[in-house]
Amino acid sequence: MASLIVCHACDLAQRYEPLATPMRVRCARCRAELLRTGGAGIDAALALCLCALILLAMGCAFPLIALTFDGTTRSATLPDAAATLYSQGYAVLAVLVLATTIAAPLGQILAFCYVLLPLKAARRAPGSEAVLRWVMRLRPWALTDVFLLGALVALVKLSGMAEVTAGISLFAYAGLMLCLAGLASVTGGGQPWRWLETAR
Ligand SMILES: [Zn+2]
Repeated sequence: MASLIVCHACDLAQRYEPLATPMRVRCARCRAELLRTGGAGIDAALALCLCALILLAMGCAFPLIALTFDGTTRSATLPDAAATLYSQGYAVLAVLVLATTIAAPLGQILAFCYVLLPLKAARRAPGSEAVLRWVMRLRPWALTDVFLLGALVALVKLSGMAEVTAGISLFAYAGLMLCLAGLASVTGGGQPWRWLETAR
């Protein structure tokens, strides 16, 4: 059963034969790589989802940063930081922090679990297509890498004023960033749609 694919570089529509073995499809006209399959499958995607879920829970539960000043140490978790922003009148900023560092990654992970877990048993969850379309739209809003970069800059800047210790949460978010990058790689190039097709 041949599938239709459109080249992202030259717009040529062409057919290819999906194979169970790992394969790389190139455009017949411009040789651009159109898709690569086989390296990692549904198991790898689910393992990355589980790992990301654990790291996200750790990122929320443990302190992000600890500040020692004049002998007193204060630490805060990410939800604490958002709550402080809210209480200081920065409600929009607090919502943005929660949405991009907790809600968007969590939504993405749970949505992939919802679609991929039934696929393990060659079944399709109701509304899989809609959930997949939604998760692809949500993906750019999971800004864990931007958050991590901002936290590291803050860490360096604050180290001049007080003794700063990076918390477990910061390391969990570094791991989460890698997991989400891995998940994006495994599920890139329209791979989940092909998994859905084979479960029809
Ligand atoms: Zn092409």
